[in-house]
Amino acid sequence: MSESNLKSMADLASLCKRRGFLFQSSEIYGGVGGCYDYGPLGIELKKNLQNRWWKAMTYRQDVVGIDSSILMNPTVWKASGHVDGFSDPMVDCKECKNRFRADKIDTSKPCPNCGAKDQFTEPRDFNLMFKTQMGPVEDSSSTVYLRPETAQGIFTNFLNVQSSMRMKLPFGIAQVGKAFRNEITPGNFIFRMREFEQMEMQYFVKPGTQVEAFEKWQEDRLQWHLSNGVRKEKLRWHEHKGNELAHYADRAFDIEYEFPQGWDEMEGIHSRTDFDLGRHEEFSGKSQKYVDQADGNKKYVPYVVETSVGLDRCTLAIMCDAYRKEFEGDKEKERVVLKFDPKVAPIKVAVLPLMKKDGLEEKARNLFKDLQQDYMAEFDVAGSIGKRYRRQDEIGTPYCVTIDYETKDDNTVTIRDRDAMTQERVAMDKVADYLKDKLKF
Ligand code: ATP
Repeated sequence: MSESNLKSMADLASLCKRRGFLFQSSEIYGGVGGCYDYGPLGIELKKNLQNRWWKAMTYRQDVVGIDSSILMNPTVWKASGHVDGFSDPMVDCKECKNRFRADKIDTSKPCPNCGAKDQFTEPRDFNLMFKTQMGPVEDSSSTVYLRPETAQGIFTNFLNVQSSMRMKLPFGIAQVGKAFRNEITPGNFIFRMREFEQMEMQYFVKPGTQVEAFEKWQEDRLQWHLSNGVRKEKLRWHEHKGNELAHYADRAFDIEYEFPQGWDEMEGIHSRTDFDLGRHEEFSGKSQKYVDQADGNKKYVPYVVETSVGLDRCTLAIMCDAYRKEFEGDKEKERVVLKFDPKVAPIKVAVLPLMKKDGLEEKARNLFKDLQQDYMAEFDVAGSIGKRYRRQDEIGTPYCVTIDYETKDDNTVTIRDRDAMTQERVAMDKVADYLKDKLKF
C-alpha cells in the first residue's frame, strides 16, 4: 500500500463540501468572499479543537477565561493603533481591476490574474477594519468597528479580572471569539477569511521576566499542536526580524505549518512589552498599573506575552495533515482517508448493520444508543458495507462496528480500525470497554 499527502487545497475543499465539513456562505446566492459556514462534521471538529485549547489554557491556576463583546468603544481601536495603522499595502491591476496585497506579490512581474505587464497602481494603504453604525443616527460619531482581534477585550478587562479574581502576576487571560478583517485577498479555502475565530491568551508579567515567559509559552504552544496529532515535520518556527517585528514588540515567533500552498503562519507568539496597557492608560486616563505586593507595593504596567492562534486555520491544518490518498496497485482499491487523531475526530465510532433485515438493524440500534451516551457516534444502514466504510474513512472515523449474521449466533461484532483496516471480533457487551481503552484521552 502506498500513500500520498494532500496535494491541492481544492481536493480538500471538495471533500469538505461533499461530506458536510464546510460550505461556502450564502452559496445559493453565489457566495460571499472570504466567509464560510461549518457543516455538522466541521463544527464538531472545530469544537473539539476549541475545547482542547480552552482546557489546555484555562484548566490551570495562572490563566482564566473571559468572553468579551465584539463591538467596543471606538477609542479602544485608536489606542491599540488599529485606526491609524491596521492596514495592508494594496495595488490594483489597471487592466483586469483585480486587487492584490502588495507585500504578497512581486509587482515587477506580470499580473497573476490577467498577465498584463507594468499595469499595477502605486501601493496604497487599505485599513482592514469593518465599520458599522451604532444607534439610530448615522453620523461619524456613531461609527463602531467589528473587532479585528480578540486581544483588546482582554487588555481592557485586565484590572477587572485581576481584582475580581485576586490574580497575582504572572497570570494570563484567555478567550475564543470571532474577529473580522476586510482582507484584500481572502483565499486558500479557510486559510484567510474575512470572518474568523481566534483563540488568544495574554500573559501579564513583571517587566524584565518576559523572556522566560516567552520561552515557556513557545514550548507549551508547540506541544499543544503536536498533542492534536499534527506531524512534527510539518511544523516549524519563523522568527520576526528587522522590519517584520512590530515596533512595540521585543520578540515574536510564528508557528508555521506546511499547507499545500507552502509554509504559512498558524499561530503567533509575541512579546508585546507594556505597549497595549500603556496606550489604554494614556487614552482612557485610567491607571492600568498593577500593585505588586510581593515587591514592596511597587506600581507598574505589566509586560505581556501573547499567544494568538486562528481556530479556523488550526482546523484547516488538522484536516490538511490528516488527509491521505492510499493506493494498492490498481485504482479500484484507492481510498481517501482523514487520519485524524481520535482525540479530534468529529465522529469517534460508526455502527453499521450489514443488512436492514433479519433483526440486524434492531441489534445495531441498541448498541448505537449505548455508545451514543459516551461518544459522538453515527448510525448508517444505507448502501453496501464497502461504501459505508469508505464514507467513514473520508470523514476520519477511527472505528466502525459492524453487526452481521454471526452476531445473531454468538453476539459478537467486528470492529474495523480506520488506519490498519484490520477487523477484530469482539463480544457485543465488550464493545464499550474496547472503545474506552482505545479512546482514552
Ligand atoms: P497574516 O500575516 O496571515 O495576515 P497576521 O500576522 O496579521 O496574519 P495575527 O494578527 O497575528 O495574524 O493573528 C493571529 C492569528 O489569527 C494568525 O496566526 C492566524 O492563525 C489567525 N488569522 C489572522 N488573520 C486571519 C484570517 N484572515 N483568516 C483566518 N485566520 C486568521
